[in-house]
Amino acid sequence: MAPRMMGARKLPDDGPRNGWFETLPPPPPARRVEGRIRVDFAVVGAGICGCSTARRLAELRPDDSVALIEAGRAGYGTSGRNAGFMLDNHSHGGMRHMEAARKNVRLSTAGTDWLRRIVREHQIQCRWSDWGRIYVAAGAEAELRNVSDGFDSLGVPWRDLDRDGVEAVTGSRYYGRGVRVDGSALVQPSAMMRGLAATLPANVALYEESPVLEMGTTGGFRLVCPDGTVEARQVVLCTHVFTEEIGVLKHRAVPLASFASLTEPLTDAQAAMLGGEGEFGLLPAHSNGSTVRLTQDRRILMRNTLFYAREKRFPPALMERVADIHRRSIAARWPDLGDTGFAGTWGGILGFTRNEGAIFGPVREGLWALMSCDVAPMTKGAIGGKLLAEHICGEDSELLQVVLSLPRAALLPPDPILRFVVNRRVGRLAATGAAER
Ligand SMILES: Cc1cc2nc3c(=O)[nH]c(=O)nc-3n(C[C@H](O)[C@H](O)[C@H](O)COP(=O)(O)OP(=O)(O)OC[C@H]3O[C@@H](n4cnc5c(N)ncnc54)[C@H](O)[C@@H]3O)c2cc1C
Repeated sequence: MAPRMMGARKLPDDGPRNGWFETLPPPPPARRVEGRIRVDFAVVGAGICGCSTARRLAELRPDDSVALIEAGRAGYGTSGRNAGFMLDNHSHGGMRHMEAARKNVRLSTAGTDWLRRIVREHQIQCRWSDWGRIYVAAGAEAELRNVSDGFDSLGVPWRDLDRDGVEAVTGSRYYGRGVRVDGSALVQPSAMMRGLAATLPANVALYEESPVLEMGTTGGFRLVCPDGTVEARQVVLCTHVFTEEIGVLKHRAVPLASFASLTEPLTDAQAAMLGGEGEFGLLPAHSNGSTVRLTQDRRILMRNTLFYAREKRFPPALMERVADIHRRSIAARWPDLGDTGFAGTWGGILGFTRNEGAIFGPVREGLWALMSCDVAPMTKGAIGGKLLAEHICGEDSELLQVVLSLPRAALLPPDPILRFVVNRRVGRLAATGAAER
């Protein structure tokens, strides 16, 4: 059979600042793909999906070799640059697909439990805390009601907080109401991802700073990196929104960029302005709102702002604008803290499907793909990787049947139609939810 080559048109370029990563000690030098490497399985992408898939494949096939190949460093990509909410369930306005939502709750609950177990077992130092979260609204009462109605439909208990109740936790009177939900965890995501990558079974070799430039097929697979190649019997693509750049699964997920800033640690006097619990995690009821955290090491994490991000790039001028928005969002909540220095401001890309559908399973003989999209993607990505490895190894389970019964991610229209539709939607959200940011 003639070799078939597919080239990656665009590679991850996550920009120079990931505050979570940069507040950790520098990692040891990377092991790169050099020369010719032969393995049974190659997993591409060391985010939550790739680390979970590689871990479970190696556990189930202890005599097989697994290469986990990452373009950058473990903990630097999207899984290490998010807001750090490990959600066992989630509710948002307009949950149109309740059956899928219930299935997703089962998956993200199992994902949270599995992650918690790994973090404890390997003593991964990522400040894992089962604090839960509060959904908040400054004025978006209707959106917050949608959130609590959604939890009622899912059978998830919640507690109502009035302005004083939210202030007791956050020190801010910015929010009129909150819906407090227990169960989920807060983590330092970069530390968790580094820890997950560092504690993989012995038959997994992690290769970093090794972008896969081309994928060729002749019987098995040949992955071409700048300084070497990996030949594998089977390949699992866990490359998130970059999967389409390799020519696979195009037009299944809308790439939306969002942005976060992490402050330097607060002084004692500053920290005293942020409520009485020592840490918190706030999720916005309105899609234009801000995700806000006080971390255990007394930093504020501010996440907001959405962009259609087909280019998958974060130019410096955009990052300056975003940092300014984040400063104003902090000042709106804590007027005395608006000029607190930032340890970093960065962007990352989330994938959204049109129908809360799954991207999970075979692409063709020997080639598999997994992408975690929509709500609670970290915990769904963790369990998705575990279940995909079990599927590849022929192991069935009730939970595997749950993921297999989800609708496949529906096809999206191409650009410029998609760009136009998404920009219009994001623009409307920004207009209606300006006060929530
Ligand atoms: C600002 C922000 C806040 C967020 N907050 C949360 C949150 O609180 N909770 C939550 O659940 N989710 C959150 N998310 C979303 C979540 O982080 C992502 O959905 C999730 O990390 C996706 O995981 P993944 O493994 O699919 O992809 P990634 O983490 O992106 O992993 C894919 C990896 O593949 C690598 N790769 C790509 N192409 C190649 C190639 N050609 N060769 C080699 N390697 C390649 C990339 O470098 C990357 O490391 C947030 C996202 C952002 C941007």
